[in-house]
Amino acid sequence: MRVRFAPSPTGFLHVGNARTAVLNYLFKKKYNATYILRIEDTDMERSTKESEESILNDLTWLGIQWDEGPDCGGNFGPYRQSERFDIYHEYTEKLLSSGNAYHCYCTQEELDAQRKIAAEANKPFIYPGTCRNLTLEQKKAFENQGRKPTVRFKVKEGITLTIDDQIKGTVIFNSENIGGDFIIVRSDGVPVYNYIVIIDDTLMNVSHVIRGEDHLPNTPKQMLIAMALGLPVPTYAHMPLLLGPDRTKLSKRHGITSVSVYREQGYLPEALFNYLGLLGWTLESGEEIVPVEKLVSEFELSKIGKSSAIFDFQKLKWMNSVYLRNLPFEKAFDLFYPYIEKAHLTASDNEWLKKVVDTVRGNCEIASDIVKEIGLFFGDTVEFEEDAEELLSTHEAQTVIRAAYELIHSTINAHNYSTETLGSIKQKTGLKGKMLFMPFRAMITGRLHGPELDKILPLLGYDRFATRIEYCYSRFAK
Ligand code: GLU
Repeated sequence: MRVRFAPSPTGFLHVGNARTAVLNYLFKKKYNATYILRIEDTDMERSTKESEESILNDLTWLGIQWDEGPDCGGNFGPYRQSERFDIYHEYTEKLLSSGNAYHCYCTQEELDAQRKIAAEANKPFIYPGTCRNLTLEQKKAFENQGRKPTVRFKVKEGITLTIDDQIKGTVIFNSENIGGDFIIVRSDGVPVYNYIVIIDDTLMNVSHVIRGEDHLPNTPKQMLIAMALGLPVPTYAHMPLLLGPDRTKLSKRHGITSVSVYREQGYLPEALFNYLGLLGWTLESGEEIVPVEKLVSEFELSKIGKSSAIFDFQKLKWMNSVYLRNLPFEKAFDLFYPYIEKAHLTASDNEWLKKVVDTVRGNCEIASDIVKEIGLFFGDTVEFEEDAEELLSTHEAQTVIRAAYELIHSTINAHNYSTETLGSIKQKTGLKGKMLFMPFRAMITGRLHGPELDKILPLLGYDRFATRIEYCYSRFAK
């Protein structure tokens, strides 16, 4: 069996496309199929080398390995459509000479005018076949006017096209309802997607086309071309679209949709793969955090639901936090380190930094969270979060601040501060429980929540501890 992922290199890898790539990969692993990466770069204006490169990088990062592609070659290349024009040209000649296609001299303006009339009558535009039967003289006359023809595929009426879709079930189209004769080669000589995709799928021996549902309406056109060329049609599986939480088409408006941004923010590829791999279907056990092997062993196209899947940004984050927590410490540290470095929060004592990271890593959902979390161990003063500041302004909190201030000027010192301060404040003020801990935590860390104080204090060091108390005293309790 052979599957393919066929991105257009016109931007970053979108999570919707990444999901297609992932499901194709599950299929590959399950059935030991060959995975083809084909770059669909015929849109010369929008396709870029940088985009192709970043798509390949993102796929690799996600853990997807392909067997044939533009970088590694294969027996069915070239794997960039822009390098296959000669092949397409040959097929165009075949279609023209067999009468399945013809040159069309209608101009954009003429077609737009017809489209407008159809729209005004609330009807879909169907190309009326104006150039279907031009005589040689008529063609010459148009060419003398400087018109450059497109090539149109002749859609025969009355053909029923049945797609035995592995996800959607049986889908039937009628050739009358696909918009009439359609363009397969533009006037600049560039062949269009619907035309060349089926040529490539058959020439590359693709057995299963697994792609987004947005391509379902294109499929009958692709099948007609295959029929006209006497080429076999692959098995299709169209996956329901991804929607945002408000059930509209997933877009940037909803949150991050680009794989590279997830990567930059410190999501783990295993988590994103797991999340995308399980969108739109479930495991019998109901488990959600599962290794690739388990996804593979349970995967079947028929298990994918027919209705759209919602992309749940929060759930993905949660999944990532679980993966992050389960990482061995050294691996997690390596993942966090670049963010720490970028925020200039490194320390000369790397062992100390490791302890700090270990103390707070449980609060990180994504790797970049580490910066916010370790921030409290740096600096003589802390930035107070709003609720912490509010609390420190209360009368009870000021009692705690004052007591701490007096203690660092009397019995508390570098040797006993981490073990004795709280007890001494309790004794001095008579406060206990939350009334004691919360202001104390706010004073030392600027926040109301965080790792246990027992863990924070020894790592913070006495100098910072004392300076923060002094600062708080002068700001809130003087
Ligand atoms: N290049 C197409 C896209 O990015 C893929 C087409 C297909 O899978 O048939 O949408």
